[in-house]
Amino acid sequence: MNIVKIHDKEFVPYLKNDEIQSLIKELALKVYEDYKDEVPVFIGVLNGVIMFFSDFLKHYPGECEIAFIQMSSYSGGLQSTGIVYKKMDLTKEVEGRHIILMEDIIDTGNTIESLFEYFKNTQHPKSLRVASLLLKPDVYKKQFKIDYVAKEIPNKFVLGYGLDYDELGRNLPDLYQLSEGRINH
Ligand code: 5GP
Repeated sequence: MNIVKIHDKEFVPYLKNDEIQSLIKELALKVYEDYKDEVPVFIGVLNGVIMFFSDFLKHYPGECEIAFIQMSSYSGGLQSTGIVYKKMDLTKEVEGRHIILMEDIIDTGNTIESLFEYFKNTQHPKSLRVASLLLKPDVYKKQFKIDYVAKEIPNKFVLGYGLDYDELGRNLPDLYQLSEGRINH
């Protein structure tokens, strides 16, 4: 893995794809333990979730359905704007189902909190949980519990494996970290 440059920023190697795969496999089996007698609906929160979602599904051994929704709280930069808005409606009817919201990364928690409320109030799920590939515990201050997390990471901007910087870098198979200091929220 080499240093990646996008615009004026440098990103250093952080997690290789095979390490990411083992974390996801472990997570998928943990989720399966809880849902093996059900047919849950995994809902991918676009765009950042694409790689995690697809790899998670490959490792999930049980029956399941999928749907997508698109949310945004970043506007191309390195920090959340704090304002969460829905960019694309839910792609399928999931009312009354066992729902698991799938996120790439949870930072302030604004996005997932607003999604959780949306699903709770409009879809009346049988159960509603959240799974995320990454969580930044130093930034996340919501009361609300994240049920499944593959890896907790420090408060540094990450890139690759679906995650972008100014819409670039999503196609990198590995994860990278911004090479300069901490991002202050
Ligand atoms: P939150 O609402 O929890 O603050 O932010 C969630 C969303 O912000 C994620 O779904 C992701 O799109 C974006 N995000 C948060 N942290 C990072 C990061 O370190 N790198 C990238 N590329 N996106 C991030």
